[in-house]
Amino acid sequence: MSDLWKKYKKYMAAAGISIIVLLALTAFYVRYDYQQYCKEAVPILEYHGIGSADGWMKELFVSKETFETHLQYLHDNGYKMVSVKKMAEMFANGESTEKTIVMTFDDGYLDNYTNVLPLLKKYNATATFFVVHSKIGHYRYMTHDQIQSLIDNGMEIGSHTINHQILTDIDPQYLSWELATSRYFLKKDYNGYVVRSLSYPNGMYNSKILAAVKEYGYYWAVTGNAGTVSKKTMEQKPLELGRIYIDDSNINTFKERLRYSYWVGYLKERGINIHFFKSL
Ligand SMILES: [Zn+2]
Repeated sequence: MSDLWKKYKKYMAAAGISIIVLLALTAFYVRYDYQQYCKEAVPILEYHGIGSADGWMKELFVSKETFETHLQYLHDNGYKMVSVKKMAEMFANGESTEKTIVMTFDDGYLDNYTNVLPLLKKYNATATFFVVHSKIGHYRYMTHDQIQSLIDNGMEIGSHTINHQILTDIDPQYLSWELATSRYFLKKDYNGYVVRSLSYPNGMYNSKILAAVKEYGYYWAVTGNAGTVSKKTMEQKPLELGRIYIDDSNINTFKERLRYSYWVGYLKERGINIHFFKSL
């Protein structure tokens, strides 16, 4: 009896140790694999207005001071801040994308010119500005010349459609107007400028919209999904690039969101989709 008991205890101890070793090795491997992924993964930040909301859609605005803390943090941590187009070129050319981050600004608000452009220049950053064509020159939106100035300063202009209609809600016959004509108008307005990037209004799309976006000449499109961009994403799903929504939270929340998006991107790349985190 006691011999059997001793054997049993030995066996259990060995099994326990094996499990612990296996778990430790798995954790070690996942950590290593994650770090390898982070070396190429590129987060895309999603901003709207930078400055005072003045009682206007507060959730879309980040104060100038908060925005500068983001730029300062990224700059101090060795991040290279670029546009969607630049990121795509880096992946296509096989350049290192380690510590690369994409800055995007949706809707074409006036402060993108008055507040954002000087700060981006200060931190040697470029960005993609997604403009709503029908809003150009309207109250609180950038004018034609201000957008031209962004282009002259090396920024990328992308389409955020003509009317900011939710593409999944509109009659399919209007898709060419919102997608193809917005590209055409921007080309005409800005001296032959070729638009290749799109931001879906409210991040909404489906398989039919993806097909139309491709047909109308877009190479890259940003969504409201979580995650980061890798070489594989650029090759397989360039019209469904994930972004990190940035609001006026403090720098610690900013860092958490960044870390979180690398993990979501990593898990997606390994085939694990975390849909329930989408709204974070
Ligand atoms: Zn928008």
